[in-house]
Amino acid sequence: MGYAAIVKCNCYREGKTIPAPHQEYLRVDETGWVYLDVDDLNLPKTIRDAWFLEFDQWEHAACAHENMEYTYAHLQNSSGMGSFQRFLAEIDAPLRYPLLATYLPNSEAESFPAAYATAGLAEVHRLRLEPTQETNVRLIEEKSGKLIAETCSQEVAVFRFTPRGPHYALHADGFFLFEDSRRRFFAPRSNVVFKSMHFVQIQLTSGACLLTDIATDRAYLAPDTLMLPGDETPAGTLSFRVDVAPVLATTQHAYILNALERVLQASVETSNPVLWA
Ligand SMILES: [Zn+2]
Repeated sequence: MGYAAIVKCNCYREGKTIPAPHQEYLRVDETGWVYLDVDDLNLPKTIRDAWFLEFDQWEHAACAHENMEYTYAHLQNSSGMGSFQRFLAEIDAPLRYPLLATYLPNSEAESFPAAYATAGLAEVHRLRLEPTQETNVRLIEEKSGKLIAETCSQEVAVFRFTPRGPHYALHADGFFLFEDSRRRFFAPRSNVVFKSMHFVQIQLTSGACLLTDIATDRAYLAPDTLMLPGDETPAGTLSFRVDVAPVLATTQHAYILNALERVLQASVETSNPVLWA
């Protein structure tokens, strides 16, 4: 599950849309959302479905903004959002960044009110200057320099499951292979079968591979190879290392900060709230 944000455009209110089907039943709510209000008409289901289909097609291309969305931004996946919320908690956000602490997606906040968008934008700008550091953990293939997986020190990134196991995880303590039928790392039943900060992978003709920890020489025969992202993984020997390095929290969270800045700016421009999706 991930988080996204939408700011609706004002084209319908400003008469800038193409003619709508069933215009007399179109309404716009206070968030800028245009909808078809036919609940009181008791239409037969087939007609009702046809009207909604026509409405959806109209909405998709009604103005210069696809689906009448002035701005749409992906914010983060759920683990990224959790990590951002933890960062906010660490820097005492309820006191220092009260709007972000209150109105970012959570169980109670469904939107960021337009009335606070300018002040919210100022909080994001101020947040970018926070000197707080976090620890970034990266698994890198040494020859190509390719990044295989990344996480921060407080979290375990479980980044691959294979039907037959084992599963791969990355943590500040190293790269792990674990066997766990419930696919939950550090669960009571998970069984770490290989752990290393720096290791070599030798691909065998059978498709399996031999992983060897460089520090201890301990080896494990894994049923699958650790793949490189993108193009094909070269056969033969590859080496991987876990890099643990400090990084500015605001660099770590740059993706969501950029997205928040875009949608809050859109909210300022349209006077519509930021809707969390
Ligand atoms: Zn529009």
